Amino acid sequence: EDILKQKEKINERMSKIKNKIVVMSGKGGVGKSTVAVNLAISFALRGYKVGLLDADITGYSVPKLLNLTSERLYNADDGILPAETNMGIKVASAGFLVENEEAPIIWRGPLKVSLIREFLSSIIWGDLDYLIIDLPPGTGDEPLSIAQDIPDISGAVIVTIPSDLSQKVVRRAVNFAKALNMPIIGIIENMSGFVCPHCGARVDIFSKGGGEKIAKDLNVPLLGKIPLDPRVAESGDNGIPFIITHKDSEVSKVFMEIVEKI
Ligand code: ADP
Repeated sequence: EDILKQKEKINERMSKIKNKIVVMSGKGGVGKSTVAVNLAISFALRGYKVGLLDADITGYSVPKLLNLTSERLYNADDGILPAETNMGIKVASAGFLVENEEAPIIWRGPLKVSLIREFLSSIIWGDLDYLIIDLPPGTGDEPLSIAQDIPDISGAVIVTIPSDLSQKVVRRAVNFAKALNMPIIGIIENMSGFVCPHCGARVDIFSKGGGEKIAKDLNVPLLGKIPLDPRVAESGDNGIPFIITHKDSEVSKVFMEIVEKI
């Protein structure tokens, strides 16, 4: 009975959110969380009401990326209040539940899944245009639970880098989404080439053309190619989202083009 009630509550909360978009990757370190955070900001910059759910329970990084590491979640009458950025983006993360950023969350799959369900049923997102969901890398318990618990996911955005190895694992992520009947919005190729700030030459650090190839092979759109820019990593480390401070950069332009397509 409790499970049914929770399901109802999830449906009720999710029905107020027009678009629910999951951000996935085949493996870690490709910039999935960075993309999720900057997508959320890009939508907010365009005037949409946005929420960001960090569903990477043991590997959460959204609080750091948004400089929200001292935030906590608080109870309200009708649920749990999310944290909020100065742009009004509502954020929930397992990071808001622990006192110490460096303490590991040592949880097995079922516990992680129940926390995600708790987030989905209790967080007071209110009316949103977009809820961006940052999934952990791979095809484990959390992506499965999100895919099954959210009634009408708009689709998945899959982040990859141009290397051969990533091309292999990204296929798994795409096939996972397909197997769960999750629409695939498209692939984002991150760390796609590097333009030397000194001489202007372009270097394709992780090989080239991978994004186009995979998109063609799997018959899914390539939403955009985000260049490698050391300032992106620096901004992430400082908790100051890159596209807010560097609106005219190539990276920001690509993000704005991507949100046009979603
Ligand atoms: P994931 O969520 O896939 O594990 P992260 O978003 O944590 O990856 O990114 C991994 C690292 O790469 C971070 O230090 C991040 O700042 C950096 N990074 C991500 N995208 C870029 C980019 N386009 N240019 C430079 N550094 C990037």
